Amino acid sequence: MPELPEVEVVRRGVASHVVGRTFTQVQLTGLRVARRHLPGPLDLADRLHDRVVSAARRRGKYLWLELDGSAAEPVAGEALVIHLGMSGQLLVEAPDAPREKHAHAIFDLSDGRQLRFVDQRTFGGLQLVSLVPDAFGGGSTVPAIITHIAPDPLEAAFDQQAVSRAMRRRHTQLKRALLDQSLLSGIGNIYADEALWRARLHGERPTDKLTAAAVRDVLGHAREVMTEALGHGGTSFDSLYVNVNGAGGYFERSLNAYGRQGKPCRRCGTLMVRESFMNRSSFSCPRCQRRPRVSS
Ligand SMILES: [Zn+2]
Repeated sequence: MPELPEVEVVRRGVASHVVGRTFTQVQLTGLRVARRHLPGPLDLADRLHDRVVSAARRRGKYLWLELDGSAAEPVAGEALVIHLGMSGQLLVEAPDAPREKHAHAIFDLSDGRQLRFVDQRTFGGLQLVSLVPDAFGGGSTVPAIITHIAPDPLEAAFDQQAVSRAMRRRHTQLKRALLDQSLLSGIGNIYADEALWRARLHGERPTDKLTAAAVRDVLGHAREVMTEALGHGGTSFDSLYVNVNGAGGYFERSLNAYGRQGKPCRRCGTLMVRESFMNRSSFSCPRCQRRPRVSS
């Protein structure tokens, strides 16, 4: 599953290679790529034909292209949401480049190139959605299917003070709150564990017992670790090839918590532990990140 930094890498690639171009022809292959579009793939291809891509945007792990209408038929306020699923990739290629086996959507662009959506495992897909005002503020619009998703820590609309207050008002556990997309989005299991390790906090700490400073600290670390990952992952589209297959080189080299059970903590040398939490694994240092005394 791609994490926020990988999705942001894809967004930047699309922003530089696709925004401002028109979809001069759209071919969708198979039914799965358009399964979220109830009228079916032919209707979706027809609605995308001749549209201009005016922006590439992201919130958390959601990626969408804002579309302008065609000159002949203006349609305002729509977006093409690209669900990357487990293995979705976007490629910008010459039209004569060999067609990938799992290329489910091919968009001819007005500059002569093609945008291709390739998805080996077909959990991803395309969806045409209305844009509506962002309920979380910022004066912008978001696709109507993600109005419940809060801004992520890398967005301008992210209000760290407000998120910190909302987390402390809830009686929940810190890691649970970090993964709660109604509070803030885009922090997956890996980045939650990394942020908690940096903040020296155990994920089961009750949020209503934490100080405002501690919550702000862990939020700051979450932003920092994702920004660093972005720096490491931002080189791949010089080749016009954007890979979102999850863990890149960054993960192997720079992770301090995730996947390090049984290895010495990079801060204190204590052996790291792996615990089960919310049907997933959590990785932490038992010395730097003390468990709360009363688990609640
Ligand atoms: Zn430690």
